Amino acid sequence: MSQPGIPAFGGTLTSLQAQNGAASASGSPYTNGPIQNALMSSQGYNSQLPGSYPHLIPAKTLNPVSGQSTYGGPQTVSPLSSYQRPGQTLHRPPVASTPVTSSLHSGPVPRMPQHTSHNSAAIPMPSVSFHPGANLPPPLNWQYNYPSAGSQTNDCPNVSSGPTMSGNTNLTSHQYVSSGDPSLQNNFIKSGAPLGPLPTGGPPPVRALTAQKSSHRTVPQPSFNSAINQEGITSSTNNGSLVVHNNYDEIEGGGFLATPQLTNKNPTISRSVGYSYPSLPPGYQNTTPPSTTGMPPSSLSYPSGPQAFSQMPLGANHLTASMSGLSLHPEGLRVINLLQERNMLPSTPLQPPVPNLHEDIQRLNCNPELFRCTLTSIPQTQALLNKAKLPLGLLLHPFKDLVQLPVVTSSTIVRCRSCRTYINPFVSFLDQRRWKCNLCYQVNDVPEEFMYNPLTRAYGEPHRRPEVQNATIEFMAPSEYMLRPPQPPVYLFVFDVSHNAVETGYLTSVCQSLLDNLDLLPGNTRTKIGFITFDSTIHFYSLQEGLSQPQMLIVSDIEDVFIPMPENLLVNLNESKELVQDLLKTLPQMFTKTLETQSALGPALQAAFKLMSPTGGRMSVFQTQLPTLGVGALKPREEPNQRSSAKEIHLTPSTDFYKKLALDCSGQQVAVDLFLLSGQYSDLASLGCISRYSAGSVYYYPSYHHQHNPVQVQKLQKELQRYLTRKIGFEAVMRIRCTKGLSIHTFHGNFFVRSTDLLSLPNVNPDAGYAVQMSVEESLMDTQLVSFQSALLYTSSKGERRIRVHTLCLPVVSTLNEVFLGADVQAISGLLANMAVDRSVTASLSDARDALVNAVIDSLSAYRSSVLSNHQPGLMVPFSLRLFPLFVLALLKQKSFQTGTNARLDERIFAMCQVKNQPLVHLMLTTHPNLYRVDNLSDEGALNINDRTIPQPPILQLSVEKLSRDGAFLMDAGSVLMLWVGKNCGQHFFSQVLGVQSYALIPQTMTDLPELDTPESARTVAFICWLREQRPFFPVLYVIRDESPMKANFLQNMVEDRTESALSYYEFLLHIQQQVNK
Ligand SMILES: [Zn+2]
Repeated sequence: MSQPGIPAFGGTLTSLQAQNGAASASGSPYTNGPIQNALMSSQGYNSQLPGSYPHLIPAKTLNPVSGQSTYGGPQTVSPLSSYQRPGQTLHRPPVASTPVTSSLHSGPVPRMPQHTSHNSAAIPMPSVSFHPGANLPPPLNWQYNYPSAGSQTNDCPNVSSGPTMSGNTNLTSHQYVSSGDPSLQNNFIKSGAPLGPLPTGGPPPVRALTAQKSSHRTVPQPSFNSAINQEGITSSTNNGSLVVHNNYDEIEGGGFLATPQLTNKNPTISRSVGYSYPSLPPGYQNTTPPSTTGMPPSSLSYPSGPQAFSQMPLGANHLTASMSGLSLHPEGLRVINLLQERNMLPSTPLQPPVPNLHEDIQRLNCNPELFRCTLTSIPQTQALLNKAKLPLGLLLHPFKDLVQLPVVTSSTIVRCRSCRTYINPFVSFLDQRRWKCNLCYQVNDVPEEFMYNPLTRAYGEPHRRPEVQNATIEFMAPSEYMLRPPQPPVYLFVFDVSHNAVETGYLTSVCQSLLDNLDLLPGNTRTKIGFITFDSTIHFYSLQEGLSQPQMLIVSDIEDVFIPMPENLLVNLNESKELVQDLLKTLPQMFTKTLETQSALGPALQAAFKLMSPTGGRMSVFQTQLPTLGVGALKPREEPNQRSSAKEIHLTPSTDFYKKLALDCSGQQVAVDLFLLSGQYSDLASLGCISRYSAGSVYYYPSYHHQHNPVQVQKLQKELQRYLTRKIGFEAVMRIRCTKGLSIHTFHGNFFVRSTDLLSLPNVNPDAGYAVQMSVEESLMDTQLVSFQSALLYTSSKGERRIRVHTLCLPVVSTLNEVFLGADVQAISGLLANMAVDRSVTASLSDARDALVNAVIDSLSAYRSSVLSNHQPGLMVPFSLRLFPLFVLALLKQKSFQTGTNARLDERIFAMCQVKNQPLVHLMLTTHPNLYRVDNLSDEGALNINDRTIPQPPILQLSVEKLSRDGAFLMDAGSVLMLWVGKNCGQHFFSQVLGVQSYALIPQTMTDLPELDTPESARTVAFICWLREQRPFFPVLYVIRDESPMKANFLQNMVEDRTESALSYYEFLLHIQQQVNK
């Protein structure tokens, strides 16, 4: 598809096929012989970055697939000279075209079979009905073990042709189906032979690892099987495809031919950022032992052996530490009867458990905010994991904003030559010149350059290099890690300007926010920006430098969208800044008199995609209603009367248009963020796919109105400010590796899974979380430690290619008790929530709810029957899981999974989007909010940050029992703060904090606290500010009186209380106990 020599991506057609898992031997969105060769020889482009990109752009725009230069251009389009509507309507020039849509329906594609609940029959029906008054369907549970199918939630290749997808389980996943063919296990080298040669007889080394990994990815279903096998994986059955299928795959995880050590010693990419390595002076011979000053006393000096900790996996020290429960608090060993000790909620925020590792290892471990595991003690076999009935998985927040991040600039990034793991704190140095990979046990040479430590400026201490001292580190990537010159930051805004949109008044807010933050958009001199508006037609804006004012171009042919004047629509922000500002000032007024009610969202998205596909970038779409015209038009599906029913609700997309377009976007490095501002049902289940598969985000402002809903206006403003100015990574991919024997099989989050386990992230943002499920494929009996490593390769807004690497190390245990002791209840709940969203979509909401309940019953039953020796009455739980029933009950009452009439469909879908896309810490707050009493704040135990005193009131149980009418209570539910004020609250609280004289004078809508000159006000404001500062988004504050409409929301979060449709915490515990003690 691509013209030889043009470093553009492959055409749309091939990219979709590849995304569908049906790529031909040469078909892959990134496959491009010339560019690959260029990469290999490092001559494809000038490696002096940035700056080389622009001159390549013209070549890209000639790509016939994008259809841009074929038509359009000033000679065929007469731009308007003013804003006045109706503008000149443009019609397609009579030129043959290659419409994007034609490729969207290319051929039949194997479809994933329907999910079937294999496990349901195995579990007897509980005798006690869980929903009061409701008939239970057969209970379901999760089998956490890995199906050999290896399907990813997000990777189902079932973008079928035709619109028959409606109602289908579009997001079908196999993770619940238990099966396993031992013959399909991978064939890594055995750990017992770490020094042995690489496996022989396999495919050529270029794809060695992937080929091995592919062997256990074979799928039972023939159609899916062939698809997977052709997806960039060179297995023995596919000899014709030894060419590289996926260049990103090659770059991040590919074979050794792409390793810097072997192919390119070009040190020209060296920056003054972070640690940069000057070349060693010639004849540098300093091999004397480095000073041990400043090192922990337990560290051995280098010449006498490997790092202190690196010996432990090989010796008995670690084992001793593990068995002695070194880092476990004695409290952690307690067994608790939850029916007797119901209040197990700590009064301070719950901390993640500390892995039971030797302190020298733990000291270097990854921050749990970035990377944590549901089980901090990994069971050594799948059989043991199965016994525990707990899910094994990882939760990641890989691009989180960090205060401190070591950045390494080096022409040599040291990676395992077998599995491509980045060198990390948990490798072992066999001697000065060799290190052993902690994931595959390959012994690797230490490159000469690595012998020099830039921190100490000493030679001969590779174990003290920053790469080996930091579990989180960022590398400046040399040119081998690029498929093309790093793309410029490109921002395209797509605005709904229909009558409905104009009514909400959102455009004024958004344009003002853009004006305010224009100079703060992450970028550099190459930043590009563009705007599209749409109603029943699509409007483009020429912002060409030199124009006296922006020119509006209207395209009315929404059946076959084309781009007029493509070169003037996405413009350099610096060069055209005045025109951009001009447009933003004018835009809100341009459509005030519109009568156009139709919405051609689908065609507008197609146009935006065409405009961006040559470069990639970020598309921000603002939509206020159900799309009604052209492709992607949707119909109302919500039936308010059915809300209470857990069945028959429309959680699946009604069309696959948005998913398909998202996959096209993903292939061209375009991410789509959707801002939905709608009071009416807008079918977020369908629309959300555009963001989900393109690695974008969904923002939802129900009932946004500039006058009637000031809270939403404030929320949008604050969140836009964050959105526009936060860090952004472009053209990113992420891969998660784990120690041989473990296997990752299901991914959760917004992305598309390209070749097997490579997550494609056209954009990555610091507020996105991810989760994966794992299984133990081979016994870890010979191992005492396992590691997990995520590597995120991205282009920064400054045009630098970077790799952010996190490595987590955990102990392996052999007993069930140890597995339970190390359980991380928040991570478990978070992973279960992700799994339950999938289950809701593939099966039903009630299935998902039952599976959540059964997760608790199964694990606690396993604990009772296999760990506890004497079976006392009550509900006995390990200390680590003391909050498990509470958190699961909270999930059942969370908007995603609740029953009852409260949840509108779009709100439920949005909550599900949040579950999938939020980092764990935010998900937990949304699920189980923190409740504080705030009318009696004191400085006792307060934090002192930057001379500010921040009170730390104790966290209360979520029950009305904890409320009293003479107090004021703040509930922190993540995205919203609710301050409930009791009628009899002290007069001083009204006057000193709220600034009113009495309860009756509290305004009906109060969303901010005044900053009064009183200590009470200062404390309250400081506390609320502090809560807000800890999250990237802006939680709106509601002050709630008894008459307030928000009071219902407040009470709904009282998780421990009984509601019409849900059990109280105590009832829930009784139910669990009955099931467990059966
Ligand atoms: Zn390795």
